Amino acid sequence: MHLVTPHRAALAAFAGLLGLGIGFAPATGTVASPPPRQEVAVETLAVAGGVHVLVGRGGNVGVFVGDEGVLVIDDQMKPTEQALFDAIDALSKAPWRFVLNTHVHGDHTGNNASFGARAPIVAHANVRARLADPKRDGGPLAAPALPVVTFEEGLELHLNGERVRVKHFANAHTDGDSVVFFERANVVHTGDLFFHGRFPIIDLDRGGSVRGVVEAVDELLTMLSDDVRLIPGHGALARKSDLVAYRDMLADSLKLVEAAQREGKSLEQMQQERVLSKYAALAQQPNSEQRFLETVARELGAK
Ligand SMILES: [Zn+2]
Repeated sequence: MHLVTPHRAALAAFAGLLGLGIGFAPATGTVASPPPRQEVAVETLAVAGGVHVLVGRGGNVGVFVGDEGVLVIDDQMKPTEQALFDAIDALSKAPWRFVLNTHVHGDHTGNNASFGARAPIVAHANVRARLADPKRDGGPLAAPALPVVTFEEGLELHLNGERVRVKHFANAHTDGDSVVFFERANVVHTGDLFFHGRFPIIDLDRGGSVRGVVEAVDELLTMLSDDVRLIPGHGALARKSDLVAYRDMLADSLKLVEAAQREGKSLEQMQQERVLSKYAALAQQPNSEQRFLETVARELGAK
């Protein structure tokens, strides 16, 4: 997901998931009810070797804790701010050492201002450039919300007896993607290079590419052991085989759309015929089959 603009269906689905019963039915009676306060729950799961994942609203947050301090990977968006602070404080009282943004999207960087006040933000140079861009939707972020340590290829963080390797993959989900490897724990946070169990959003307008994701995942797969635990950008914890299945779905989708193009089909025809319907089970608002088809077709130049 990126730059999530909550709309009713998504909010209702979200509320339903949490069992909060937040409804959007019109108010009955003559006095309008106050809008329901939106509760946000964050679930904490231990992965391995001090690495945890926090699942709330937005991208999966990685939290690495130990005696020397805390590393936080991604920070979701405004509604989860306090719930994330509470969940991280419950894991560790140690000082925060670094906050890392896996990429630019608002559902991964939306709490940068308050998280950046607790530790320096680290990200690929393009993440900072896009967040600071005067032409950014909603305006450039103020200095406290911007990454202060940037890199081009990658870097290593040494913390809690662990070597944390951060590696950039070019032009995949965006043009500023990072994957985070915890070597001892054998855990990898993939950022949005991997949407587990759902269609991906791939941001062609910010340097992303479907083919680029396939190439990045191919390279990433060569770097993973068979028993690695994967924290995807979105979706449940995963294994290497899940990432292989995801890669194959992307490559197959490219082939299916190319074949339709060779038959002279327009995007509209492809949508009517639902050329990606075999993957319909991966649809999850707002990551719909048609939206993904549109992304693939657009990348391939379909009219
Ligand atoms: Zn994203």
